[in-house]
Amino acid sequence: MSFFEDIGKRISEAGQGAARKTRDIADSARSSIMISDEEKKINGLYAELGRAYYEKYAAAEDCEFFEAVRSINEANSRIRELRQQDAVRRGMRVCTKCGAALAADSSFCNVCGAPVEAPAAAADEVVGMAPDTDETGAETAYENTAETAAEEHVAAAGEEQSAAADADVKKCHVCGTELAREAAFCKECGARQLS
Ligand SMILES: [Zn+2]
Ligand SMILES: [Zn+2]
Repeated sequence: MSFFEDIGKRISEAGQGAARKTRDIADSARSSIMISDEEKKINGLYAELGRAYYEKYAAAEDCEFFEAVRSINEANSRIRELRQQDAVRRGMRVCTKCGAALAADSSFCNVCGAPVEAPAAAADEVVGMAPDTDETGAETAYENTAETAAEEHVAAAGEEQSAAADADVKKCHVCGTELAREAAFCKECGARQLS
């Protein structure tokens, strides 16, 4: 084999090798996408299982994973406190049961359905507690963002609706009051919403 033929052969072999490599890389990429899809599915199911377990034992005195249940309870009550402080700071009333901010005209909490009680304490009392939120600043910021978004929906529901905004609004199936799409309970009559 001449020198040039040899070079040519080597180049062509190298080319085939490169083609196979490209195909292998594409196949690998595809399978890692499929693997991560399956992993996402598993993680979603783990979370569901955990939530089901938690809901079953949230009020229990003891259970197999009591430490985790207690930690979730503690985190939930911190969230409730932070929500209350924040809502009161902004002059909004809060649900005494779950801490959700309430629209001014609510008779029932639209998150948990608890009847709305007398207006919360004066804002000044709670403003003094603001520094407490510093150590959990990141979490608080996150909560605020989520809550602000939710309130914008609520605020929007109270205003005149254009056809475009209809998707954010639903009507109570019992009394017909216009409600934010995510409301679990009617703020007017307290009925649990179906969807
Ligand atoms: Zn509530
Ligand atoms: Zn209603």
